[in-house]
Amino acid sequence: MFVYADNAATTAMSKAAIDAMTPAMHQLYGNPSSLHQKGREANYALMDARETVARCLNAQPREIYFTGCGTESDNWAITEGARLGAEQGKKHIISDPIEHHAVLHTLAKLEKQGFEVTYLPVHEDGVVRLEDLAAAIRPDTCLVTIMFSNNEIGTVQPIREIGALCRERGVLFHTDAVQAVGHLPIDVAADNIDMLSLSGHKFHAPKGVGALYCKKSVPIRNFIEGGAQERGRRGGTEAIPAILAMAAAMKDSCEHMEENMARVSAMRDKLIDGLSKIPRSRCNGSPDHRAPGLVSFCFEGIEGESLLLRLDLAGICASSGSACTSGSLDPSHVLLALGMPHEIAHGSLRLSLSEYNTMEEVDYILQQVPEVVRTLRQMSPVWSRMLETMEDPYQ
Ligand SMILES: *Cc1c(COP(=O)(O)O)cnc(C)c1O
Repeated sequence: MFVYADNAATTAMSKAAIDAMTPAMHQLYGNPSSLHQKGREANYALMDARETVARCLNAQPREIYFTGCGTESDNWAITEGARLGAEQGKKHIISDPIEHHAVLHTLAKLEKQGFEVTYLPVHEDGVVRLEDLAAAIRPDTCLVTIMFSNNEIGTVQPIREIGALCRERGVLFHTDAVQAVGHLPIDVAADNIDMLSLSGHKFHAPKGVGALYCKKSVPIRNFIEGGAQERGRRGGTEAIPAILAMAAAMKDSCEHMEENMARVSAMRDKLIDGLSKIPRSRCNGSPDHRAPGLVSFCFEGIEGESLLLRLDLAGICASSGSACTSGSLDPSHVLLALGMPHEIAHGSLRLSLSEYNTMEEVDYILQQVPEVVRTLRQMSPVWSRMLETMEDPYQ
């Protein structure tokens, strides 16, 4: 059996996305900035796509800027939020330690430039507390950036309440919603969001296209220098086929949101139940505030990397944490921020599902993972050391 359970790293393209992209690749090759008919044709398609994306978020079309990826959107929003603050002499930013590196590394750069960043604690469950945020906001706070849902442990933050608090205190609020768009209902107006980052390839659109929502009252400037595209704020000829595919995938996801959420969370819950039966295991992240498809576990006494390799041999594509950090042997910064000791954070497994997965695949995972964990433990010096001080749970 083959199971793709790494949807937080990237997703397969949907039929809706491919059906929108294919004719666009054949026919819509005009440059939307050109005045001739081929240009106009591309430009009309672009306007349609912008309207679709805006509608899915309850935004206005002119508040949507197409970008190259989620990373670019994060960099842009945070850099501009900081610049706008600095113009008023405000150089304090609030975030948290479990953000994606697109956010964390941008913040680190700003810190070098003289901004001060407060990282709110996320406690054991990965959830930011409103009272911590309220206490951290200062007169010189210019920006709060907190992700919608986490890419490693799936924790969903109280975004609407965070947004309301920021609005009440007059602080700009950005959210990295790359893991949320297409998976959870989002309404930028009701959720009090000023800026929101999204990326196509996390909801069945192609890679290399994203968007930034920026409320029209926020006077952001362009992040890269160039032409007059995206109302002068993001130069670069628009990637029409990819943008059209992203709009189609987003519409498709939004129209099937409720049924997908119900189906995917049922699979997630079955996985969590089953994996919890493995001795010396723990489920990471909040049990209540959790993205529909995300399952994160730690298994004591084993290395996450070996687990992944074995699962790969069994046909299961999973991840130990974020794909972006899997090149390094450091344990995940997210698990460490939850207060997990290094040696346990090393034995992590992330399974991320989408509506394309099935219950049969979940059953297969539940048959394989406990076996592989058990085999690895039999070979693990760490596990045999642990057996000196505890009863063997497999006896
Ligand atoms: C994947 C991801 C990103 C980066 O998006 P790209 O389009 O791959 O650049 C940013 N934030 C989160 C939470 C993500 O999961």
